[in-house]
Parts: sequence; structure tokens; C-alpha cells
Amino acid sequence: MARYRGAVCRLCRREGVRLYLKGERCFSAKCAIEKRPYPPGDHAQRRMRRRTSDYGIQLREKQKLRRIYGLLERQFRRYFAEAARSPGVTGEVLLRLLERRLDSVVWRLGFASSRTQARELISHRHFTVNDRSVDIPSFQVRPGDTVAVHESSRALPPVVAAVAAAGGRRLPSWLQVEADAMRGTVVSLPARDEIDTQVQEELVVEYYSR
Ligand code: SF4
Repeated sequence: MARYRGAVCRLCRREGVRLYLKGERCFSAKCAIEKRPYPPGDHAQRRMRRRTSDYGIQLREKQKLRRIYGLLERQFRRYFAEAARSPGVTGEVLLRLLERRLDSVVWRLGFASSRTQARELISHRHFTVNDRSVDIPSFQVRPGDTVAVHESSRALPPVVAAVAAAGGRRLPSWLQVEADAMRGTVVSLPARDEIDTQVQEELVVEYYSR
């Protein structure tokens, strides 16, 4: 599947917030946002002083959300179309669809150091859902699903390192984890206040509703 392969810290600096794209480094003082809290590029600081239009603000919020979940525009637009068709508040439904992606859930459970790594591990068949191997990172989990590291992959160094590092991280209440068994359960669908993604989703909706 196509994905962005450039320097990911540039994306955070462009959006001005941590997008958590680089594993444990994102939680440390080495994070590029700490060291260089301004957009990348020679003229970026001059551009920052200009007033941003409503369209520009909406665009940045859309880009931020898309980059957090590591999606290309076409994939992201499909999620938006599905959210717009579904009952409920479109922005919240969109966030819920993104959070329910298997790669995001694997990262939240602490079995991978970033969503990008989770995606790669899933593609290499290192995870099961309800005891069946699943290699589709966009797989949508449902309440009651059990997500586990494949039995033969439990000693895999990136998984072991991620589990060890995730010990102190807060788990959202819609998920439960048994770290020793390398298994987690989806307790419920995530409510908006259980999704800590720092984004104003209504601006994303406005962007696509122009
Ligand atoms: Fe973003 Fe992580 Fe790089 Fe910090 S370390 S700028 S949060 S990708």
C-alpha cells in the first residue's frame, strides 16, 4: 500500500504538534518539536507571520488528522465519505473509524511503537483478531474482538521492545490489555472523549463540505 516515505518529523513540525509518528522518540526530549518548534523550510518562519485564511486553517487540520493516521488523501477521503453517510456527528464518526483501524489499535495496545510500525507488523502477519491471522492494517475492529500478537511472533524484538516501552502509557478505556499474554480486547466503540487525538474534527468536516 502506498504511504509517505519522507522524514516524518517534518510533518509534525509543519503541523506544529506531535503526531507520534516515530515511536518512543516522540515521548522523549529528543522529539524534533521540542528542539525546533517551527515549520521546516528556509522561508517557513516568514510564512508563519502571515494571516491564515479559514480555508488554510481547515486544510491544516485535515492534513494533521490524515498524517496522524498515516493515510494518503484518497484513503482519507473514503473514510470521510463513509462518515458522512453514517448516522451521528460526522467528525466524531470519522475519528471513530480511524481509531478502529487495526494498526491504530495495535499501537494503542502497546504492541508496536508507532502506527507505521504496527502497519508493517500486521502486513507481515504477526497479529490475530479473534484467533485468526489478519494482515490488513485498515481492518475495522468491533466491540468484543480480541487482538493478539501471533503466538510465533511473541519474541519478535520490535514487539518485545514496544511492549516494554508501553508499560507507562495510558490506555484508553475502550480497550483492555493483558500485556504478559500480548493480547488485548476491544471493550466498546470509542467515544469522542476517549480519543486523545488533538484535532478539531469539525474543521475537517468544514474542509470537505466547501
Ligand atoms: Fe513527531 Fe515523533 Fe518526530 Fe516528535 S519525534 S517530531 S512527535 S515524529
